Amino acid sequence: MEFLDSAVKRALSDLYEQLRQDKDPAISKGSTSKFLFKPHVHTRISMMPVCAHLYRLEFPSCKDSGNFFCLVGTVVRVGPAKLLEYAKTYQCNKCKNQIDVKAIPSKFHSFPKHVECPNLCLNAKVSPVGKENSKTSEHFSKFKDYQEIKLQVNK
Ligand SMILES: [Zn+2]
Repeated sequence: MEFLDSAVKRALSDLYEQLRQDKDPAISKGSTSKFLFKPHVHTRISMMPVCAHLYRLEFPSCKDSGNFFCLVGTVVRVGPAKLLEYAKTYQCNKCKNQIDVKAIPSKFHSFPKHVECPNLCLNAKVSPVGKENSKTSEHFSKFKDYQEIKLQVNK
């Protein structure tokens, strides 16, 4: 999905640049029908072609990990919308280099206990920027919405 999101962003960026070069009135100042470049976009896939390897009628198992497919079923329960912290900015205490560290989905979106400095500093401590539960840590964390659902597979 990250690949598709970046492809959509690039397509929008290319379109916007093309309109700008063509001096299209849609992006000119004072236009009422402005085409605004929006960097925060996501891909939603629907109406996938009906192929045996894309459609599943059984619940996925471990062997399906990493595969892209459509699961057909009925949503029988929906949980509340929540925020998921999926990345944090860490900083090396020696070289002050900052890196984004992603949470590990298979470990309930926890963060790795030990992070090495990308500059391979010796005896360096790489820790999250900002203290936990402080307002500054929000600027160095990335969140996204998620919602748990209970799905009943159609048979
Ligand atoms: Zn370092």
